[in-house]
Amino acid sequence: MKIYIDGKYYDQKNAKISVFDHGLLYGDGIFEGIRAYNGRVFKLKEHIDRLFCSAKAILLRMPLSHGDVVRAVVETCRRNKIRDGYVRLLVTRGAGTLGLNPNRCKNPAVIIIADKIQLYPAELYERGMEIITVPTIRNLHSALNPAIKSLNYLNNILAKIEANNAGCEEAVMLNAEGFVSECTGDNIVIVKAGQVLTPPLSAGALYGITRGVVLELAREGGLSVAEPNLTRYDLFNADECFLTGTGAELIPIVKIDGRVIGTGKPGPITRRLVDKYHALTNVSGEPIYG
Ligand code: PMP
Repeated sequence: MKIYIDGKYYDQKNAKISVFDHGLLYGDGIFEGIRAYNGRVFKLKEHIDRLFCSAKAILLRMPLSHGDVVRAVVETCRRNKIRDGYVRLLVTRGAGTLGLNPNRCKNPAVIIIADKIQLYPAELYERGMEIITVPTIRNLHSALNPAIKSLNYLNNILAKIEANNAGCEEAVMLNAEGFVSECTGDNIVIVKAGQVLTPPLSAGALYGITRGVVLELAREGGLSVAEPNLTRYDLFNADECFLTGTGAELIPIVKIDGRVIGTGKPGPITRRLVDKYHALTNVSGEPIYG
């Protein structure tokens, strides 16, 4: 495996960064998880746009232009002979001194890893997955906005541990007002009376790229789409539910906090959107091999 660090490629065992990097010391940095399908990088521009938005929010000077990042991601895929895979793109504050001050970090570090990913067991995509609501609430947007895809994922990790301890793979996270925000690494969508509903971004969710694609596919398919605040009651009484994420893609949810959702099987609208999503990933994206 060839890993990109600051413009150079290293074998995995030589791909190293400083122990003084504030990405490590403080989680001071940002990242993107990107997927390649059939020799193309899916929604690359959108991921890099979001990376630049995260950088702006944390006052991180991007050492590369948007176009440079596109080229570096594509080249890293090419060097790793990726046709179908997963790209992790990170920008850290860089090496500094002990102490929080980001001004002591002279050069942000850019790291790109192109590999494979399998988030959830394959059979759960067929049967549907069970999730629970956990006590750890999602970060307040006035404290650390969940729209920033930062290297500081402890909020999500604590929720993930609570889900895992209860025998679940994923958790619903509420916000401080008790409305549904998202899951630890995925956005959540329900279908009720033919309408596709997902929490508004102001409920404290990442501006999920898969979420955006799925809402667009739903609209194109003639479904009505809305983004109201949702409560656990709304989830329990949904006809269908699924999660969206670059790694997870679309995964059906059939039980939440012990309540069976709909028929207890992945629903017809979910299945239709899954098919449309795969049809799109197969043909669109930034070509890796010219
Ligand atoms: N929410 C969180 C907290 C995430 O980390 C992610 C990405 N794994 C998502 C939602 C889904 O976002 P996207 O569709 O852009 O991958």
